[in-house]
Amino acid sequence: MKCTSCKTGELLPNTLEETLPCHTCNNCGGNWIKLEDYIKWHNTQQPQQAVVDEIGVEVDAIESRQALLCPETGAIMTKFKITSDTDHRIDWCSQSASIWLDKGEWELLKKKGVADKLNQIFSRQWQAKIMAETARNTREAQLIEKLGEENYSRLKLVRTWLHEQSDENKAIMISFLVARDPLSPKKG
Ligand SMILES: [Zn+2]
Repeated sequence: MKCTSCKTGELLPNTLEETLPCHTCNNCGGNWIKLEDYIKWHNTQQPQQAVVDEIGVEVDAIESRQALLCPETGAIMTKFKITSDTDHRIDWCSQSASIWLDKGEWELLKKKGVADKLNQIFSRQWQAKIMAETARNTREAQLIEKLGEENYSRLKLVRTWLHEQSDENKAIMISFLVARDPLSPKKG
């Protein structure tokens, strides 16, 4: 089978893990995996087993930006973000139920602790979670840029401390903080 990613290499039978068969391109090193093979492998894994190795290992993964065609059906594969803290996206073909991982992306999935959640990554819930996290991260980055890192971390500490108080005390403390002259006999 021709590699649809680099369009040069051949996809040859290989294994991603001992009992996880795949096809690997002899040119670009990309891996093509059938979902049913992944599920079979997944069912033999202890929870978290697939997650823990590789942590701390530097991962050098390629990310193909262009649309990828499924090596089997020729259909355009859909790109799915893995987590909110990486731009890496993995490709999925629903017609052939297969996954394309660029070179190093399997190691990246392991490092991110999501190698045993590959089937969830293609779900609407997973993608919605990533979008929500991304929006939060963007908001936080804007605040840090505006306030400075030190001010922002202090602000977070103060917020935590305020929310540890009773509702009544919290209200008193907030008005103390925002009042121009909090000890003035005149209110506000
Ligand atoms: Zn290739």
